[in-house]
Amino acid sequence: MVSIDVMGGSTEIGGNKILVEHNGTRILLDFGMSFSQNSRYFSEFLNPRKCTALIDYLEMGLLPDIKGIYREDYLNHMGRPPEERAVDAVFLSHAHADHAQYIHFLRFDIPIYCTEETHIILQCLEEVGTGTISDLTSACETFVFYENTKGNRSRVTRRNTEYVHDRDFHIMEPEQSIRIGSLEIEMVPVDHSLPGACGYFIYSDEGNIVYTGDIRFHGYERDKSERFVEKAASCRPKWLLCEGTRLDSNDTDSEQGVRDEIGRIVASSKDLVFVEHPVRDLYRVKSIFDAARAAGRELVVGLKLAYLIEAFGDLAPFSLDDVKILVPMKSWGLLYKNGIERMLVEGDYSKWERDFLFRDNSITCEELRKYPKKYVVSMNMWEINQLIDIKPHDAVWIKSSCEPFSDEMDIDEERKKKWLEHFGIQLFSAHASGHASGDEIRDMVGRIAPEQVIPIHTEHPEMFKL
Ligand SMILES: [Zn+2]
Ligand SMILES: [Zn+2]
Repeated sequence: MVSIDVMGGSTEIGGNKILVEHNGTRILLDFGMSFSQNSRYFSEFLNPRKCTALIDYLEMGLLPDIKGIYREDYLNHMGRPPEERAVDAVFLSHAHADHAQYIHFLRFDIPIYCTEETHIILQCLEEVGTGTISDLTSACETFVFYENTKGNRSRVTRRNTEYVHDRDFHIMEPEQSIRIGSLEIEMVPVDHSLPGACGYFIYSDEGNIVYTGDIRFHGYERDKSERFVEKAASCRPKWLLCEGTRLDSNDTDSEQGVRDEIGRIVASSKDLVFVEHPVRDLYRVKSIFDAARAAGRELVVGLKLAYLIEAFGDLAPFSLDDVKILVPMKSWGLLYKNGIERMLVEGDYSKWERDFLFRDNSITCEELRKYPKKYVVSMNMWEINQLIDIKPHDAVWIKSSCEPFSDEMDIDEERKKKWLEHFGIQLFSAHASGHASGDEIRDMVGRIAPEQVIPIHTEHPEMFKL
């Protein structure tokens, strides 16, 4: 018997957690965070407590209460007896938080399958994240003590490397299949708003399952989505786990369209151009890069984006050497003071940031202030205070990200507009969604022709019937 349990993501956008079971084989498709469930009870300043391990998450419905999947250090801290591993593998469709972030809570010994790009992005998130996102690719035992050199007990931290465990990641190549117990699982790439997105085909002797992950048909990798649909149709699935984020919208847009629109705005601007975009969407970054080049300008990236581009290596759309790296003033602001030794300046920055401080293509806000017409700057809300150093005169801000979808985001958006007003910056927008339109989804379902559609990642499951 095949059973498909959608434990998260059935009537909401994201938080995908799907348990597939067949003849004793159990696999998870994604294990993401539900933004809607989280924001129902929690906010920036009211969070699930670390000290209760899983209890707050289980009580408030952020995690499903099933046995044999959660990390032993957390179970032990909660006073729950040890459990046998009860899931054979996790398959991640991509590295967005609503699909991958809660692998933090999983046992260290569960094999995790994903694309190379997904693995790189998760590593970057862990390295440059704010600390709340951790234990994605390597996990450190928590609530554990060790005996220190003085013979006293101390808390284990990441410095105690014997308590840090690499998670059991397996990189899948396009259209590679692997067997897990009674199931065979094939990875098939799709187009989405970050690199490395894929869906999965699950073959069983009682019918096949196709899982779309998040999919669109209007990005630079649209051919992959087309191929996905063709292949999905030919495997004649009994079940199609289908995303439906934009079932209620038929707006058509495209990544090329975004690139052209940004190009037009840059060409007609007489001062600095800032572009706000999702930092891990390297397709969008490519659009901005190309638009800047076409207008004879250079792209300037922040440190997090610089780190990601370097980590992507040959998989990145361009080399980090082809852009400028903007180094912000931090901590004591010593970067801007003359006659300070390099080592003292480095003390202002995290370890991972230090590598970018003194490169040939590293610049500061002073360069942007002096030569505003030379650059297009990747910038987000959290770095906007650098405007105080840049002092723009007639600048432009292009919002190249989705509209706010929570009260907190609305407030941030209003705050950003105040900053732009203060500096007399004109606001434009240019964005394309990461998801297929309603018509495209219905067309895809028609072509794949499954026996049954299981709606996922949608607030409108009923619209699949239209
Ligand atoms: Zn998603
Ligand atoms: Zn996504």
